[in-house]
Amino acid sequence: MTGQARMLRCAWIAPAEDPDARLLIPGCPDRVQDWDAPCACPTTVEELGQAETRIAELTAELQALRHHVYGLTTAIDAHPDRASLFAAADRWHMTQKEEPP
Ligand SMILES: [Zn+2]
Repeated sequence: MTGQARMLRCAWIAPAEDPDARLLIPGCPDRVQDWDAPCACPTTVEELGQAETRIAELTAELQALRHHVYGLTTAIDAHPDRASLFAAADRWHMTQKEEPP
């Protein structure tokens, strides 16, 4: 085999409360079907890459929302009824129990 072998991430564990049982931790479907199958669990490096990608997506989403809120706030601030509009927004915010859609 060339290169570094992929390390197994999941392993069959015999729980102390039931030594005859086997739990696959964390477990991948390939090994559930076949005990001797190669592990297909993501490596820590792969999981880190996925987490970093998701953080970048969420950061971009947050930045877009901040930009949108800034635009709305700027427009309201320039409106003649700004005080009543901000008061209405505050009332809405204080009474909401659920997350906005
Ligand atoms: Zn696995």
